[in-house]
Amino acid sequence: MTYLTVPIAAKDLKEAAGQIKTATQAGAELLELRTDFLENLSTSLVEKLITETKTANLPVIVTCRDKRQGGAIEYPAQLRVDVLAAAIKSGADFIDLEFENFSGQNRKAITEALSQNPKSRLILSTHNFKTKFDDLEQLYSQIKKSYQPAIPKLIFTANHINDCFEAFDLLNKTDDDLITFCMGQAGFISRIIAKKLNSFVTFASIDDKTTTAPGQLTIGQFKNLYRYDSINSDTELYGIIGSPIGHSLSPNIHNACFADIGADKLYLPLLIEGGRDEFNTFMQNILERDWLGFKGFSVTIPHKQNALDFAHENKGDIEPLAEKIGAANTLLINERQISAYNTDYAGALDAITSTLKITRQDLKDMPIAVMGAGGVARAVVAGLAESKAKVTIYNRTVEKGQNLAVQFNCSFKPLAELSKVDSELLINCTSIGMYPNVNATPIAKNHLKKDMAVFDTVYNPVETLLLKQAEKIGAKTISGLDMFINQAAAQFKLFTDTDANTNLMRNILSNCLSEE
Ligand code: NAP
Repeated sequence: MTYLTVPIAAKDLKEAAGQIKTATQAGAELLELRTDFLENLSTSLVEKLITETKTANLPVIVTCRDKRQGGAIEYPAQLRVDVLAAAIKSGADFIDLEFENFSGQNRKAITEALSQNPKSRLILSTHNFKTKFDDLEQLYSQIKKSYQPAIPKLIFTANHINDCFEAFDLLNKTDDDLITFCMGQAGFISRIIAKKLNSFVTFASIDDKTTTAPGQLTIGQFKNLYRYDSINSDTELYGIIGSPIGHSLSPNIHNACFADIGADKLYLPLLIEGGRDEFNTFMQNILERDWLGFKGFSVTIPHKQNALDFAHENKGDIEPLAEKIGAANTLLINERQISAYNTDYAGALDAITSTLKITRQDLKDMPIAVMGAGGVARAVVAGLAESKAKVTIYNRTVEKGQNLAVQFNCSFKPLAELSKVDSELLINCTSIGMYPNVNATPIAKNHLKKDMAVFDTVYNPVETLLLKQAEKIGAKTISGLDMFINQAAAQFKLFTDTDANTNLMRNILSNCLSEE
């Protein structure tokens, strides 16, 4: 079992009582009493704190962290050991001592106290706040060799998501109780995957204000967003690969839809910084570890082309239009076999056809203006070209726009020509108007026409200035949110072979986007 552990980091007993109550109500399974946060620390204060904790009826770890290993207030070494020995005598289930301090008189005092309360267990911890340990496995063996009954706790900072795999490997090959995960934004997923790999504990904070380590999630995020209670060793993993990824709403909608159909699946944000090399290393790490259970990915900026290239290099199955677009936004993995898809173009075409109540065949010969020539424009233009629409691309960087036009047999015009635009459908595929630049629009409002349909692929905000101005003159509007939901639903179908609950997706997205 993995205990979802909440640190109680309070300056006095009153504050601690409040935190204990909140943590318990939020669903904590174990409390870590960080006594190094207490002002005027004494053994009797810690004994009172342990008594206070008994109301919660949860197991406790008592820690008095050395400042050199991330402690809050700098207390003398002797007092810290006295506090831990007193905690053992008062019935603490676990105490946590730094491995580097477990020698000489400290070791004698702690092992003597443990012999008087055999129910109490020792966690020997070590932290690296800068980077990986030189040899994680060797450090683990060293701790076990030093004191066999100890629970080793090895916490290090991941400077890249690829650093996390060492912690996963150690968890995978160790049957004894062990705590290992990574700090920092890049180590985020290791705190969640810890449960799948049976780490003895993983830590969550009560809220954003009470985090005690970099990259810590809140207990609410663990339980509500990342399906903590349902994670088990068989849970299949999915995620969105990109950089940056922190604001992606894909975990919100996919996890809610997995829960909706009762799937034993979990969807994570996968921040892959760097370029092709880092992406390839991540994917190799995944392919080499089928026991991790990654089965599929959504892929976003800047890795869509890398995803397609990786599928090529690994002799994957590639959807023909993804090939034509030159980008994959979805990867599936089945026993090392990769399949690559692009659900963006279908998402866009379905948004157009469903709102205008037409079929894809009706797009044939329709005059359509596309603003932009980036990744989304490529997918939209490829889909429209497939349907034989008459597309004109308008783009700021002329060469990029011209190249896209040549590839898909369309026309190109510079942005200035937008003043004369006269198409049945106008599509914004630029990022203009996206949050936080919500007062920007890619085309002056006097160039919009009443009998034009206007589609903005930007979905944050849901109602962009472009859509508001089009609606005001009576033009039909198509929302980027529909495209986003359609492409996510197509991915969900690939991940689960089941239709997504698109109403649920829409509600979640509308709520999250209106909060910004
Ligand atoms: P991208 O590859 O970076 O392309 C951005 C495009 O916008 C380029 O054509 C760029 O022109 C143009 N652009 C940016 N700023 C401009 C400015 N100030 N003036 C004129 N042109 C400008 O981005 P992308 O991946 O295509 O994404 C574009 C937008 O699509 C995103 O911002 C997002 O809101 C939206 N999107 C929607 C969905 C959905 O499902 N609805 C999915 C993904 C993205 P240059 O070529 O001259 O640089």
